[in-house]
Amino acid sequence: MSEEGKILLQIEHMKKSFDGVEILKDISLSVREGEVVSIIGPSGSGKSTLLRCATMLETMDGGTLSYLSEKAAYEENGRCIYAPKAKLKEIHKNFGLVFQNFNLFPHYSVMKNITDAPVVVDKVPKKEAEERAEKLLAQLGLSDKADAYPCQLSGGQQQRVSIARALALQPKILFFDEPTSALDPELTGEVLKVIKELAREHMTMIIVTHEMQFARELSDRIIFMEQGIIQAEGTPEEIFHCENERVREFIGKFQ
Ligand code: ADP
Ligand code: MG
Repeated sequence: MSEEGKILLQIEHMKKSFDGVEILKDISLSVREGEVVSIIGPSGSGKSTLLRCATMLETMDGGTLSYLSEKAAYEENGRCIYAPKAKLKEIHKNFGLVFQNFNLFPHYSVMKNITDAPVVVDKVPKKEAEERAEKLLAQLGLSDKADAYPCQLSGGQQQRVSIARALALQPKILFFDEPTSALDPELTGEVLKVIKELAREHMTMIIVTHEMQFARELSDRIIFMEQGIIQAEGTPEEIFHCENERVREFIGKFQ
């Protein structure tokens, strides 16, 4: 089924260095509508850098980044060129990002955390943004938390709010960077459940995670990254029965 969806995200030969050290060496990947792609790999392998470059929180040094065939960045004469600001703003609307540490505004209520960007950035009327937020809160089991402040919530609830905040902008793709790694094991489940729910609704997602069983159950495709390159890529069954020594060793640590 996912073979037929249109390509939402395409990365070709993405490169990124920090202080002369190549962190992303030559990353190419594409994601189709409705696909769930998990990215696994050891700490320091460049997973967060990949997400940050893909979401333009970080500039890339080379390669091409496109959303729905619109080029956000491309290489020309050895230089990486970004699309004009107005185009980038449009492209930005395609995706949302959920961080490891929630990144909620501590001085805003849950409702304001969710409605702020739609109202301020997308100029959605406040009432409409609030109605949308209420629906999302209900969907994520947080209806009674609209007026709470982040500090009054558990980590699992905070992460669900940050998922609601990302969804409020109605992205076509959601990126997650280790969404449960700051959570106690007993709170991890409630966040994974929400992500599974989104998968069932065919939300396109790219998830960096160390939750191997979750990745195995949920993903259409798993990417194993190490030292700035994609070392292996395949269906969960292919990756979990992969011949590649490094993949076996890595996955073995979680079993
Ligand atoms: P992962 O998410 O797979 O653990 P990261 O993408 O966070 O890996 O980091 C990969 C490497 O890039 C690490 O060695 C890290 O120290 C380095 N790195 C990441 N961001 C920066 C930065 N802003 N400045 C310098 N080095 C960085
Ligand atoms: Mg990381």
